[in-house]
Amino acid sequence: MPLYQNQELKIYNSLTGKKDVFKPINEGHIGMYVCGPTVYSNVHLGNVRTFLSFDMIFRYFKHLDYKVRFVRNITDAGHLENDADEGEDRIAKKARLEQIEPMEVVQMYTVDFHNILNKFNFLPPSIEPTATGHIIEQIEIIKTILDKGLAYEINGSVYFDVLKYNKTNHYGILSGRNIEDLIHNTRALDGQSDKKNPQDFALWKKAEPQHIMRWPSPWSDGFPGWHLECTAMSTKYLGEQFDIHGGGMDLKFPHHECEIAQAEVCNGKSPVNYWMHTNMLTLNGQKMAKSTGNNILPAEIFTGENNILKKPFSPSVTRFFMMQAHYRSILDFSSDALEASEKGFNKLMEAVNSLEKLPVSSSTDFDIKTWKNNCYNAMNDDFNTPILIAELFSAVKFINQVKDGKASVNQTDLDILTKTIHEFVFDVLGLENVDNCNGNGSNKLSDTVEVLIKLRAEARANKDFALSDKIRDELLSVGIQLKDGKDGTSFSTN
Ligand SMILES: [Zn+2]
Repeated sequence: MPLYQNQELKIYNSLTGKKDVFKPINEGHIGMYVCGPTVYSNVHLGNVRTFLSFDMIFRYFKHLDYKVRFVRNITDAGHLENDADEGEDRIAKKARLEQIEPMEVVQMYTVDFHNILNKFNFLPPSIEPTATGHIIEQIEIIKTILDKGLAYEINGSVYFDVLKYNKTNHYGILSGRNIEDLIHNTRALDGQSDKKNPQDFALWKKAEPQHIMRWPSPWSDGFPGWHLECTAMSTKYLGEQFDIHGGGMDLKFPHHECEIAQAEVCNGKSPVNYWMHTNMLTLNGQKMAKSTGNNILPAEIFTGENNILKKPFSPSVTRFFMMQAHYRSILDFSSDALEASEKGFNKLMEAVNSLEKLPVSSSTDFDIKTWKNNCYNAMNDDFNTPILIAELFSAVKFINQVKDGKASVNQTDLDILTKTIHEFVFDVLGLENVDNCNGNGSNKLSDTVEVLIKLRAEARANKDFALSDKIRDELLSVGIQLKDGKDGTSFSTN
């Protein structure tokens, strides 16, 4: 029996403003779409947090035996500098400044994006479509919206008529806004724009002569509006109605609001059942911003090459740090917070490593069944990873007691404990049992320490206590403590 049949999962739905019981459209199957990066610069650490949250969610669905189609796009055209359909295309601007082709910009930063995600041990999505690969689909959607009278063409550009749409639908349903507020809060058109109303958004923009990224269309040589690509790609791969759409909370308005409006007009129904939004990441208590220097690139965490950090941290420690906060809470990134997470991470991994060496008794002083249920309950409560981690640490405490001879565990319970910890730590949280900072999947530190432990044992066998003490003391001076027990020597890092 698939695991999901025993679990009642609740998801906080931005559309209803509460935790809803999750019921997929087709039993056993999930369609999930997450807005991907605009590839015009190195991936932002705040975006990494968003994608990491959905990687964990994807992993938990898979763990529950759902068949998941997870679509995360690459925005490689159409994303202008500001949300009011003005300014240069972000990728074209970068290409102009660097004097390279727009597609070189796209390639460079798509590779960077994948490299960083690989270091963080992400699972690849099922489909990773690009906006430029779906221009034809986007043109077809514009034709449909024009046919239904909810868009208008002016000077080769096409705009979605928000005020007309709002007569029959609620524009602002997701972000809890209403049209009166929007009208009140948007600045008047400056005469440069072709739009009838400032609330309208572009479906197609006519390209200026100097604009390189352009495609032919019935209206002009131009390019699609940014909001349109997600509607085109989600509909194509997940259908007119699908289960989950996610992204950072900054995308709720206008991006996701526009997606709802476009899809409602095209298909006559609400496109998504559960909208999920992740919260922001701050750096030392402040908003991250390149202009103020309060900024860090993900790759700099692994090398420590940023003044914000006192030392480098491995991708797995960084991942663990992010999982210690709920995805809907603001998370503050700092060197001290990461150091605290590193201590916890090492403690967790030491306990995981010691599981196979635990002495087995005839009885167990730990309610394994309740503990396991608590782990699932945490995840079923809107993916509450901090509570899950707290549960994992109550198991760590028990494991250490068994190790010290202060508690006992029988074989059956030890098997359940081991399996459950492995599933949650490695499969669901996606942590890796590695100490290295380059995240290439090897476990060089513990292999190296094992070599030294062996040399020390040889030195002791040869009665060379000066050398054996030297090995122990030198290791201690770099933070590795050897412990001699009746089953040999083990080590811990601090
Ligand atoms: Zn999107």
